[in-house]
Amino acid sequence: MQRLPLRLETAWNACRRGVPLLIDFLLPPSCPFCGVESADDAGGLLCHVCRIRMRNASNAACSRCGLFGRQTLTSQDGRQACTDCRKRKFRFQAVSPPLGAYRGELRQAVIRMKKAHERPLVWAIGKLWGNHLRTEVEKLPDLLTPVPRHWWRRIQTQQDVPLQLAECLGTYFAQSTVRPLLTLHRMTQKQSHLARTARAGNLHQAMRVRNPQVICGRSIAVVDDIMTTGATLNEAARALLAAGAASVTALVVARAMPGDNPLSPHSG
Ligand SMILES: [Zn+2]
Ligand SMILES: [Zn+2]
Repeated sequence: MQRLPLRLETAWNACRRGVPLLIDFLLPPSCPFCGVESADDAGGLLCHVCRIRMRNASNAACSRCGLFGRQTLTSQDGRQACTDCRKRKFRFQAVSPPLGAYRGELRQAVIRMKKAHERPLVWAIGKLWGNHLRTEVEKLPDLLTPVPRHWWRRIQTQQDVPLQLAECLGTYFAQSTVRPLLTLHRMTQKQSHLARTARAGNLHQAMRVRNPQVICGRSIAVVDDIMTTGATLNEAARALLAAGAASVTALVVARAMPGDNPLSPHSG
């Protein structure tokens, strides 16, 4: 391309530098959760206050079930569990430290994320979660796969939160590939509308693996926004292990705590 005359080029560069500043002036960066304008939180991040409120940095989580404030103990046969999960039979091996408990601002954010117009919030939570996980784990499994949603629900809501979260995590962990490996082959009731005891039955044998040849012998992490009883993640792990996966772990943003109301929007 022919070089612009020097004065014109200088003016052009000044314009290019000025456009983002003008956009920031007209539409100041704001927190996608609380809406507070914040000059240091450009790029779709949550503001400093929301970041602190949504991340549980004070309590360790059980490595088996993800519950906060539980000490993970190793039994004589080498299995790790806390007092809450030692009698549970999860098919997934572990839950990486969740961002926080399903309470307060994080609960409100998870509920809001279901709406199609809240994609900036999903991305902001995904970034906070990605940074959190990088401080907690060295790397994630080879493959990250979102919990599947029925195709009709995806059309109805125009939103697929687990997929967006998985894609966001993929930008933080370059060795991990994001791939939707699971499908929901029949319409199930929303887990959030069911009592804890009915959730496993609702999802019984409901998931299938799209490409079993891709997962053979691989370690896989299943991504979801919330874990309540673990029934959704259990069904995902069942399908993946049956199709040949070497191991399955769980990645969830929020962990519902015992005693909290399980009949809350979209909890699994
Ligand atoms: Zn905020
Ligand atoms: Zn536990």
